[in-house]
Amino acid sequence: MDLSIIGSGYVGLVSGACFAEVGHNVICVDNDQRKVDALQAGKVPIYEPGLEDLIHRNVSAGRLRFTNSIADGVDHSEVIFIAVPTPPQADGSVDLSYIERVAREIAGVLKPGQYRVVVDKSTVPVKTGDKVAETIKRYGAAGCEFDVVSNPEFLREGCAVPDLMKPDRIVIGAKSDRATALMKKIYEPFMAPILVTDINSAELIKHAANSFLALKISYINAVSAICDASGADVEKVADGIGADKRIGRNFLNAGLGYGGSCFPKDIAAFIAISDDLGVPFTLLKEVQRINAAQRERFLKTLRDDLWILRDKHIAVWGLAFKPDTDDIRSSVAIDVVAELLKEGAHVTAYDPKGMDKVREFKLIPGCKLADSPLAAAEGAEALIIATEWKEFAAVDLHELKRAMRSPMIFDGRNLFNPETMEHVGFHYRSIGRPRTGEVVQKK
Ligand code: NAD
Repeated sequence: MDLSIIGSGYVGLVSGACFAEVGHNVICVDNDQRKVDALQAGKVPIYEPGLEDLIHRNVSAGRLRFTNSIADGVDHSEVIFIAVPTPPQADGSVDLSYIERVAREIAGVLKPGQYRVVVDKSTVPVKTGDKVAETIKRYGAAGCEFDVVSNPEFLREGCAVPDLMKPDRIVIGAKSDRATALMKKIYEPFMAPILVTDINSAELIKHAANSFLALKISYINAVSAICDASGADVEKVADGIGADKRIGRNFLNAGLGYGGSCFPKDIAAFIAISDDLGVPFTLLKEVQRINAAQRERFLKTLRDDLWILRDKHIAVWGLAFKPDTDDIRSSVAIDVVAELLKEGAHVTAYDPKGMDKVREFKLIPGCKLADSPLAAAEGAEALIIATEWKEFAAVDLHELKRAMRSPMIFDGRNLFNPETMEHVGFHYRSIGRPRTGEVVQKK
């Protein structure tokens, strides 16, 4: 089938490559000329495992191409996906101006007698589909035939390619049988369960899903505070409750809290949506509060143990908001570095993939960037682990101890085993896990 995707970011580009991989002809559209130029020159502007190969293979096969022209995309495709940003506004509500602009641009190039399905893949508030349909109708030429569909995306950055190639489910929110049939045909090669709903329900599924996942993270983080206060071990508690199939072990890892470009904004959006509808979802405010408190608790441990942060040399491992991505948007690691810098510490950080974006966006001026985890730790009085990259777990701990000026580690992602760390001679603090001396019952 002939498809186009407007917005070639984490969602649009990976979706486009995966659609091409299963045999569709895909045009990826973006209004960022630098991005289009890079993609046309064979350079992939984001890091996602497996993406580069996928793009090169499908470009060579003639199934994937890039353009800055929405008219080109709309003209050559029966189905047009929208995957542009839906950022938060100051009050938490969603800025839908990118979606509206694309809807108007599509309307401007639709031709009478040419049926098109406009699919919203961006994460949008319930009832946005109606607005998109109204907008296209208002700005389109008379006689344009189109349907609007909601098809929320559930990929996780860091494993976006496998998530898209083997999704748990596909959600299709549609009004018309014709559009539903086309959407089913697009997704047939993925052999995943397809859930067909009305448009409002499909839109709501996305915000409800992300809010629930964030709630799970905040739940275990709240439990981790109780573990810290009582000497229990949050990992054992998570294993114990996660073994119950009704609960599940995923998203029960205590740590510095959630960040990234989706969870914080989607939870804020769901709160704003529910307020707007007159049914405030106050539970989600507590999810946000716990998330912020978790970071504060971590920084308090750091201050308690290091005493004064001013002029201390602190190493930070991890800047991306999670492992296996270069995405630093709303990363907790970046916030932690910013806080340390604000308090006058000298920070040297290392991240396997996120440092180019840190340089590009200049988010933490004053933070030095090192070439390796050990180089970052050289001479440091403390090391913070802010993102749980596998590369960090593989560092030689004796070398690390030798490199540091004082061997104090604050592990915000519970990457290491406390007993091992204390055996090597580190002053080691993690989240919700007792230090060896505090272990109530040894393994
Ligand atoms: P992104 O910022 O990585 O990509 C968006 C792209 O859209 C950019 O390349 C930008 O240049 C382009 N763009 C903006 N306006 C445009 C226009 N008028 N015409 C053409 N291109 C335009 O964003 P993303 O992370 O891919 O997120 C896109 C949407 O998908 C958001 O609603 C997000 O909430 C949702 N989502 C994201 C993820 C994720 O993990 N990143 C997962 C699921 C859903």
